[in-house]
Amino acid sequence: RTAIVLLTRDLRVRDHPALAAACAAADRVVPLFVFDPDLQAISANRTRFLYQALADLRHTLRGRGGDLVVRHGDPVAQTIRTAQAVAADAVAITADISGYARSREHRLARECTRHRLALRAFPGITVVEPGALRPAGGGDHYRVFSPYNRAWQAAAWRDEVTAPHAIRLPDGLDPGDLPPAPPGESPDAAPGGETAGQHRLHAWLTGAAGHGRGVTERIPGYADHHDDLAADATSRLSPYLRFGCVSPLAVANAARALDGPGPAAFVRQLCWRDFYHQVALAFPRLATDAYRAPAEPPWRRDPAALRHWQDGQTGVPVVDAGMRQLRAEGWMHNRARLITAAYLAKHLRLDWRDGVRWFFRWLLDGDIANNAGNWQWVAGTGNDTRPYRRFNPIRQAHRFDPDGEYVRRYLPELAAVPGGTVHEPWRLPGTVRRDLDYPPPLESPGEEPTWLRA
Ligand code: FAD
Repeated sequence: RTAIVLLTRDLRVRDHPALAAACAAADRVVPLFVFDPDLQAISANRTRFLYQALADLRHTLRGRGGDLVVRHGDPVAQTIRTAQAVAADAVAITADISGYARSREHRLARECTRHRLALRAFPGITVVEPGALRPAGGGDHYRVFSPYNRAWQAAAWRDEVTAPHAIRLPDGLDPGDLPPAPPGESPDAAPGGETAGQHRLHAWLTGAAGHGRGVTERIPGYADHHDDLAADATSRLSPYLRFGCVSPLAVANAARALDGPGPAAFVRQLCWRDFYHQVALAFPRLATDAYRAPAEPPWRRDPAALRHWQDGQTGVPVVDAGMRQLRAEGWMHNRARLITAAYLAKHLRLDWRDGVRWFFRWLLDGDIANNAGNWQWVAGTGNDTRPYRRFNPIRQAHRFDPDGEYVRRYLPELAAVPGGTVHEPWRLPGTVRRDLDYPPPLESPGEEPTWLRA
């Protein structure tokens, strides 16, 4: 028997239910990845990461006697064509939630039926399958995080599956070329792949070389330090979770096995990821339509202000540092994401969808559920139970970057401004200010910018 495993954003061998089931049921297995032209060119950073992840996966599969088969074109047509070429009788996929992924899955189901292929969809992109938990009071998904978190923590999680030791490809199948990874846009972006993801996970859990210098940068210190902008005290696993280079379930199980507030706080963040996935499944227009009526007046159009924000030239150092980190690394600290997003949506009153699009272009971890879900939370159109919440960027800066280290790391033009004074360059004496190549803060329209005077 021969099975095809159509890979999408499940680029690993460890705890891969679809791959494990195919290897158990069939004697020949084709791990197939199809480059879909509709999905290229959205983000050079993610494309680079994807190529690296595929190269790493090919290396791993070859080490187990198999290969990664690469094709180009429509994933459905290519899957059927490959299945016919090797006389396969089954296709396995990992179920996904976006509108695009679901319509691909429906088309694949139709074509598999037409060609007498058995299609099976498996879990794997989240800890708990999106849609598996339903609120007691009715409804197809949880709208509020806390009750979801309670149900999620109490739920029986599926068992992890072991990686196949040996994989046998059908004879004579051309695996296809995998070109070298094209350059991304961010010079300091993390490398893609299961191997890199495993290193990062291991370092995060154990403090082995490669992540963090002390306990504050690892999981035991997470509860106390995850909001510290300069400490870099979060796992940075998000791109690996995004592409399935690590299994969310395996990460959650590993963290749950540890005692203390750090691991517990970290597991709660993984629950946020699952939460937004079940929201996105139930509300597929999450990236374009308000999940609920805006809490604030409608958005303005101001291309110049948007450009300043995108370029990290708003004149508010903590905002600009976040936006420059995004460009440099294809990643931004969560606290900085909150500050920069709130600055766009609540201070500048620009459309949150412009923020979604900009983040989506740069973020290695950019995905519909978490990106749009979090943007809507910040903009007051999403799941925040306090949609009128305001973030004072200056107070946030002093609280989460008290010495100004984070700001100076990403804003070289302010490198000579000492300590926390770097957060308010407009307070510096005129003579000092004149010598800084740094703009005055953008005005927030229709509102007294009291935060500038706070
Ligand atoms: P850690 O703090 O180590 O957390 C562990 C994991 O938990 C993360 O890898 C992530 O998978 C999950 N997680 C943590 N915080 C959140 C959260 N608020 N929502 C959902 N999952 C979370 N995350 C993405 O993965 N993709 C996105 O496109 C994305 N866009 C965002 C946009 C905005 C405006 C905001 C405010 C947040 C966004 N986040 C997004 C959530 C969060 O900022 C990142 O997941 C986190 O910064 C990734 O870094 P980490 O892996 O070190 O996180």
